[in-house]
Amino acid sequence: MNHCLTMEAVPYGGKKKSWCWASYLEQDKAIAAPTKLFKEHQAFPQSKNGFRVGMKLEGVDPEHPSMYCVLTVAEVSGHRIRLHFDKYSDYYDFWVNSNSADIHPVGWCEKTGHTLHPPKGLKDEEFSWLSYIKLSKAQAAPKALFENQNTVRAAYRSNLGFRIGMKLEAIDKKNPSFICVATVTDMVDSRFLVHFDDWDESYDFWCDATSPYIHPVGWCQDNDRILTKPPGYPNVKNFSWGKYLEETHSSPAPARAFKGKPPHSFQPLMKLETVDKRNPMLVRVATVVDTDDHRVQIHFDGWTDEYDYWVDTDSPDIHPAGWCAKTGHPLQPPISPQELFESSEQGGCPTPGCKGVGHIKGARYSGHHSAVGCPYSDININKDSVLPDRLSGEMPGSGGLGRPRRAEPNPDIIPAPALTDFCMLISFPKVELTLQQALHQSVFMPCTSPSPSSSPFCWDQHSKLLPTVAGITSSKVASWTVEEVIEFIQGLPGCREHVHTFRDEQIDGEAFLLLTQVDLVRIMSIKLGPAIKIYNSILMFKTAEESACNEL
Ligand SMILES: [Zn+2]
Repeated sequence: MNHCLTMEAVPYGGKKKSWCWASYLEQDKAIAAPTKLFKEHQAFPQSKNGFRVGMKLEGVDPEHPSMYCVLTVAEVSGHRIRLHFDKYSDYYDFWVNSNSADIHPVGWCEKTGHTLHPPKGLKDEEFSWLSYIKLSKAQAAPKALFENQNTVRAAYRSNLGFRIGMKLEAIDKKNPSFICVATVTDMVDSRFLVHFDDWDESYDFWCDATSPYIHPVGWCQDNDRILTKPPGYPNVKNFSWGKYLEETHSSPAPARAFKGKPPHSFQPLMKLETVDKRNPMLVRVATVVDTDDHRVQIHFDGWTDEYDYWVDTDSPDIHPAGWCAKTGHPLQPPISPQELFESSEQGGCPTPGCKGVGHIKGARYSGHHSAVGCPYSDININKDSVLPDRLSGEMPGSGGLGRPRRAEPNPDIIPAPALTDFCMLISFPKVELTLQQALHQSVFMPCTSPSPSSSPFCWDQHSKLLPTVAGITSSKVASWTVEEVIEFIQGLPGCREHVHTFRDEQIDGEAFLLLTQVDLVRIMSIKLGPAIKIYNSILMFKTAEESACNEL
């Protein structure tokens, strides 16, 4: 057994007893996932974490992976660091391992020809590291702390074949059933950035040639899968790769460049340490409960299985047992059935198992006392984020970067599920800004209730934006024929040209009410502006139905 597993004890449940891997494994007759199953960046680090609070650096924004930003180390814990976007709220702080490939020393962007996004409030041309560091009396993180600075040459070789601008077919990690037309838009060391053509950059992801999420051009056709075309493509029905490559003056990434991923050896019941995605400051004792080709399903020991989720086997957030002890990071031991019971009786957070640590809104708050702020409560359990997009306040004159994806910040509001869907929709590309902003205002500003059943929409404002929708309930819409649906769509401003899609797909009232934003934009290939209006009217029909029911 690994020596790291033996005697490192951590305080257990705030009580006097302590917890250690060795006796836990023995008591449960369990095995830890062997260290050799982990990639180098997940396993026990070779060097100490030399980052210190206050050091400045450049790094990739996890929510906008194409952007490099000015960052400051806000917290250091073991091998991990919490990074802060300069001059932005600490809502947006995020954790990385100190060996992350996503962070770079000051000056790296300039040296490598990347655009560095300056701290909030500064224009690109106003920013210079030299004066910024001087003015803020800060220290640039020394180059020697960045592991990726030493691996460049070897890495380039392994990336042979991919070039910026090449096209490929890529799986949308947020909606894995979609395989979409995509482009390599950036390359750093052995990794490259995949961008979905015509989609918001928030869907971008970094990967290497072995990623299971990428395929060569033509893969969908060869494998009888549906390729999702770029939503802005004028003639989606007649999309052909040959023509598209010609029109975009681009070439396909060569099939030989795609490397198969060697199979992983994780097996169910193996134990490991995992960053809790709902509360990323915490690393918990966890168990693999299921596996597929390139992922493991993580279960947090002691918690109910509703908190289980899948992670990629190469995720930087999984580590061998003993990793926390070895690197000096606190480890959250399993919760006992007794603790599950006790914590619900204590004055703090009502969620069983939760000790009130962390907050659904990120690092701004270190703790919470109610289900509203609890990352584990029923209302928050499946939310990626309740925050507005970091860049959403920057829209006017910011060169069209950041598009709003979430509700405006308001400490009392947790968007209802339907609103979250809507927010996803408005993150799509090719948005008509004025309409988008108007709808955004109208949907989110007047909303003061966290409950979806108590009229989350401001009826008056919506009715002004979409007058033909006013007063129609979903039960009435459900009885519409295809022709009646078409008639309605025709009456929506700017939607007339999409009428044929509804006729082709034979969408009657009942089917119409079932459409989601994804259906509209991706499957029916409706442009974003009209799709927002159409989806919003569906939401409004449903709300009208609820209000009608409430009045009875
Ligand atoms: Zn809680």
